[in-house]
Formats: sequence, C-alpha cells, structure tokens
Amino acid sequence: MNVQSPNDLNAFWMPFTANRQFKTEPRMFVAADGMYYTTSDGRQVLDGTAGLWCCNAGHKRPKIVEAVQAQVAEMDYAPAFQMGHPKAFELANKLVNMAPEGMEHVFYTNSGSESVETALKIALAYHRAKGDGARSRLVGRERGYHGVNFGGISVGGIVNNRRFFGSLLTGVDHLPHTHLPEQNKFVRGQPEHGAHLADDLERIVALHGAETIAAVIVEPMAGSTGVLLPPKGYLERLREITRKHGILLIFDEVITGFGRLGSSFAAEHFGVTPDIMVTAKGLTNGVIPMGAVMCTAEIHDAFMNGPEHVIELFHGYTYSGNPIAAAAGIATLDTYREEGLFERAAELAPYWEDMLHGLKGLPHVIDIRNMGLIGAIELEPIAGSPTQRAFSAFLAAYDKGLLIRTTGDIIAMSPPLIIEKDEIDRIGETLKDVLTSID
Ligand code: PMP
Repeated sequence: MNVQSPNDLNAFWMPFTANRQFKTEPRMFVAADGMYYTTSDGRQVLDGTAGLWCCNAGHKRPKIVEAVQAQVAEMDYAPAFQMGHPKAFELANKLVNMAPEGMEHVFYTNSGSESVETALKIALAYHRAKGDGARSRLVGRERGYHGVNFGGISVGGIVNNRRFFGSLLTGVDHLPHTHLPEQNKFVRGQPEHGAHLADDLERIVALHGAETIAAVIVEPMAGSTGVLLPPKGYLERLREITRKHGILLIFDEVITGFGRLGSSFAAEHFGVTPDIMVTAKGLTNGVIPMGAVMCTAEIHDAFMNGPEHVIELFHGYTYSGNPIAAAAGIATLDTYREEGLFERAAELAPYWEDMLHGLKGLPHVIDIRNMGLIGAIELEPIAGSPTQRAFSAFLAAYDKGLLIRTTGDIIAMSPPLIIEKDEIDRIGETLKDVLTSID
C-alpha cells in the first residue's frame, strides 16, 4: 500500500517545472485577490503574468465567482453530445459579437492545446468536405507554441517540445520565425523589418504545390517563446499569400485574445482576419478550463451541406461547452466589457512601454519588446548555462514579491489588465533590483 501524507510533494509530477529544484525549495500560492497572490508563508506577490497569461481581469472577481457558484448549484454538468444547455449558446453568441467580422461559429474545447488540435482537424476536414482532400499538409512556424498535444507540437517550433516525442505528424513545414535581433533590437511595439519572412510560404507552396496544403497556423504575436512581435506588414502578407492559394489561415490567439493587446483579439488589432481563430485562457479568466475555436461561415457551412442525418464533424470533448465553464465565460466577458478592460489595456500600454524600456542599459539586458500589456526582457545567457540567468531572475523576483515568467533567457510579463500605474512602477523598480542583484 502507498503511504503518502497530504503534504508530501512527491506524488504530483508538476508540468513544465524543474521538479527536483522545486521540491527542495517549494513555492506555494494559497490565495489570490485582484493583482496579488498570497504565498503559504503569508507574503503578497504581485501577479506580473496574469497567472499563466490567463487571468486578464485579475483574481477572485466577484461576478465570476458568483456565476460559477450559482451554476454549480443549478446544474453541475450536462452531456455535451446531442444535448445543449442555454449558457453554451449564450457564450457563443457573445464571442461572435466581440470577434472580428467573419468569425461566426464557435466550437468549445477545454484548453489552448485542445483548441489547436480542433482547429487543425477542422481545417483538414473542411477541405475534405469540399472535395479537396489532397490538401492535407500543415504549415507552422519556428519558435511557434501551439500547446503540447501531437498536432500542436508538430506545427510548433520549440525544439524541446518536439525532440523527445517521436516522429510527430508528417506533412508539416515551418516558416521562419520573425525575430530579427540585429535589425529590430529594443524596438518599441511592432518592428519595421521582417515582412518579407512571410514570403517563405511561397517557397513551401512551390515545393509541394498549393493543392496539397490545408492550413498555416501562427500566433499573431508569439508569446511563449518570448514575445516575438509580427513585423509591420507580415501578417497582411501571410493573409494575401494564403488567400491566393486557397490555404486556410489559423491564428492562435490563446495569449493575444481577450484584451492583451488592447483589443478583443490580435486579428482586430492588426486588421487581419484569419479563417479560424484559436482561443482559451482569458475566455474564462483562467477560472475554469475552457477553450473556443472560432471560424467563418464558409468553413462551418461546408460541414452543413451533407445529408441531414449525418453528424457533420466527428470531433468533441466530454466537457465541450461545460455549463460551469460557460457560466464563467459569460461572467468573464461581461466583466471585461463592463469595466472597459480592453480599452484600459490600450490606455496603459504607453506607460507600460516606458517602464519596460526604462530598463535598457541595466546589467544583462540585450533586448526589450512590448505591445499592449505584454512585454519581454531578453537577458544575455550565461555561457554554457542557458536559461540559468533568467531562472535566477525569476527566483529573485519571487523573493521580492513579484511573479514573472521566464522562457529560455527571456523574462516575459503580461499583468492582469486591472493593473494600476503605481503597480507598473513597482514592477519596474523590482526588476531593476533583480537585474542588478543577479550574476
Ligand atoms: N497556444 C498558445 C499560443 C499558447 O500560448 C498556449 C499556452 N501558453 C497554448 C496554445 C496551449 O494552451 P494550454 O496550456 O491551455 O493547453
């Protein structure tokens, strides 16, 4: 018989965590409110990352808490197949109303990773439904992050997420990433250089033939690999080339959706509308796992043209449109709207940008990137110990009461959109302390 006391740390195999390091020096959050977490030793930690880029309205928001409590008391669960419940429809309608024009239908999932798989499957099945089944190739991007399931790591471009897991999906190509450190160093907002990188899609088309390519998937702004912004004209160019060749364009808006860039979605911010949009995280403010894939009427209707009795898309999850998640989603979108949080993010963006770029010249800092309420500070890696310097910064910031996120040697931040200017100042001061205190 196994004997584990409730406080043993060994049984829980933590995700994307240096488990051995963590378990010798655990860091525990036990409560959250507004902009702050409370640690198990009673300290307040300023949330510089909105949890994992998801709690865009901050923590313990009354409307969301109440909606979840009310829903769980009224109906805890309803089957997701062949049965509906009103809140899933209500949330879908709200999403369509806030999405860029053309995104007219919603398919529910439980996470960003599942939304990615769903989007890829919709793209492949759409071409088949149209009698164009030879379109089976997928195109992703180097340094792209599309979750951790097999489709997502196949089209994704982060080596450690791919290298340990076999041969992955076949028929996948990758566009180059858009990070040009020499030309675009310390640029505020969208970089000038790099639109031409989208033209690589023409090379892939020439290599395989457009008639074999189903879809291109990109994050309009790559978050998890360190806030890589799309160069001016890049997304427009991708849209033009995909449209020209009948290839679907999928935007993975798991991070960029729900106000992060000061607009509902990056598609709106950049004025480029994809055919399919992948969302999660901010959809329920991180409170209940939920994702949503949105698509055009053209894609949706291709599945509706078959005989009535046929189930159109053979895909779905036990928890698709789960009532509690849907209730959380409705309350979250209402909170964003009632508090004007997307507009607030847009208003605060210049202040955020000034704080971040004020860190230029501090030890180890080799680049700073920002947009909306998201930002990255790239540190010079320690020779032979990549990621070590940023991890030291993470630990030092945590000790000083600030939660940041690191990816490689990049510090990434995405605070809740309710942040106040004095809290932005505090992030700046803490980071100054951190960067001057680490080796
Ligand atoms: N796509 C993008 C762009 C993401 O940033 C993430 C998560 N950081 C995912 C997909 C995966 O989401 P999840 O962790 O909810 O599966």
